[in-house]
Amino acid sequence: MAIREIITVPDPRLKEISKPVEAVTDETRQLMDDMLETMYEADGIGLAAIQVGVPQRIIVMDLSGPEERAEPRFFVNPVLSDPSEGKTPYDEGCLSVPGYYETIERPSTIKLTYLDYDGNEVEEIAEGMFATCIQHEMDHLEGVLFIDYLSRLKRQRAVQKVKKLEKDKARDAA
Ligand code: ZN
Repeated sequence: MAIREIITVPDPRLKEISKPVEAVTDETRQLMDDMLETMYEADGIGLAAIQVGVPQRIIVMDLSGPEERAEPRFFVNPVLSDPSEGKTPYDEGCLSVPGYYETIERPSTIKLTYLDYDGNEVEEIAEGMFATCIQHEMDHLEGVLFIDYLSRLKRQRAVQKVKKLEKDKARDAA
C-alpha cells in the first residue's frame, strides 16, 4: 500500500466526472488499498478516487473512524436511487476542503448498488451517517463538492481558507 497525495480545492480535477470501472482487477484493488491507507493517514472516514487524482468511480469508507479502523468498505461503480423525502442535517467536512465544516441536509435513507472489493454486486439501503457519507462521496464522482451547496460567498470563503492553509503548510515545509 502507498499513501497518495490528496488534491484540494480549487484543483480543477475535483470538477471532473469520474468514469465507470470496466472490471474489478488487482490494479483496482491496489488503488483501493492505497486510497484506504491515504484516507486513514488523513483521519478521514470517506474518500473518492478523484481526490487522489484518479477519475474512476471508486469510493472507500470506514465509518468506525477516525478513532477506530474496524470497518473498511469499498464501493466500485456505486449507483444511488430512491432517496427518502425526509432529510437529515449533518456537519460535513471533506479531505479536499481541509479545515472547513458546514451543515448540509441530505436524504435520510437511500438505496445503493455497487461492486465490492471482489467485484461482487451488492444492493443495500443506506441510512444514518452511512447515507450522508455515501451521498457526499457519490457527489465527488460527479464533480460536486459539499461546498457547492452553500452560497457563493461561503464557498469562496472556504476556498480562500484552504488556499491560505496550503500556503502556510508550504511555507512551514520550506
Ligand atoms: Zn469529500
